[in-house]
Amino acid sequence: MIFSLDALVRPNIRKLAPYVSARNAFAGHARIFLDANENSIGSPIDGDLSRYPDPSQSEISRGLAEIYGLSPSEIFVSHGSDEAIDLLIRIFCEPRIDNILICPPTYGMYEVSAAINDVEVLRVNLTSEFELDVEAVKSAANENTKLIFLCSPNNPTGNSIGREAILEIAEAFSGIVVIDEAYIHFSNETSVACELDRSQNIVVLQTFSKAWGLAGLRVGLALGNPKIIELLNRVKLPYNVGRTEQKLILEALANRTMVDETAAKIVFERESLAEKLRRLSFIKRVYHSDANFLLVKATDPEKIYRSLLSEKIVIRNRDGDPLCDGCLRITVGTPNENNELLRALKKYEESLVY
Ligand SMILES: *Cc1c(COP(=O)(O)O)cnc(C)c1O
Repeated sequence: MIFSLDALVRPNIRKLAPYVSARNAFAGHARIFLDANENSIGSPIDGDLSRYPDPSQSEISRGLAEIYGLSPSEIFVSHGSDEAIDLLIRIFCEPRIDNILICPPTYGMYEVSAAINDVEVLRVNLTSEFELDVEAVKSAANENTKLIFLCSPNNPTGNSIGREAILEIAEAFSGIVVIDEAYIHFSNETSVACELDRSQNIVVLQTFSKAWGLAGLRVGLALGNPKIIELLNRVKLPYNVGRTEQKLILEALANRTMVDETAAKIVFERESLAEKLRRLSFIKRVYHSDANFLLVKATDPEKIYRSLLSEKIVIRNRDGDPLCDGCLRITVGTPNENNELLRALKKYEESLVY
């Protein structure tokens, strides 16, 4: 399929002249900055925050480029992946005309962002074993489908989508395939980011919220061909990642060996928790997971959910999501938290006998 980026972009975005902030109008080294109406006398708190942050987050992009073996021009730093999802829809989808395609059950933000932007959502459910139905996806996409969102490992099912299936869809589709890899660190699969050279219409989303343990910072990334990254930069709010966030992300990058270590611990805990959950009488199935959570099928999910809540343990009830009848989603916690969860579930199990 021929991929023409220009034809995909909404005409108003193609023509858009981005806001030029004081900090990107002048990029050199100066002695005195009187260009951005900041308060140079001081602020009520410490932290060197009186100046606006770098609008292009260039230090982070350079650091990440080195880690990923990409060029900085292939990396967009976002205010969480949720910002990138919203921007992609705004760049490519004409409200009330274009649509996006998703494969439920999957992450809820694709649909919410589409609804906010008044963009239609086409749904092609996964199979009953949560596999991607490649043929159904290919035939459901129509001339107004601009984006296909695939989540791998998928939330809430936990399984990964095979590389071949992703590439087959990207090849057949004239729009953009967005691969959300929020949980990639917990998986044995490698990122499809290494296919970016080959597939011009793939955008990979990753986040600092999961394996990096920095959900409170609100920083994510989009990896893709430089023309798409340029569009994301053009449409984003000028200062979408704050100064503190940028500083802390640079610290995290310098400390990144810890990320693989903690991810490995979580994977170990995940397998041990899965094994113990399987022994509970009311758990009918624990699905294979490549993420930091487990999807389980249970008898009376709402009752289990309530029972855990009464012990002040909160999990997620996914009963009612497509193909998720009876399902609960449980995030893998610390060894202690997991033990407490198991203790509470055994107590629930005993209560069923009487
Ligand atoms: C948690 C999650 C994200 C992360 O979103 P952020 O805005 O970066 O916190 C993205 N995609 C999926 C599928 C998720 O589960």
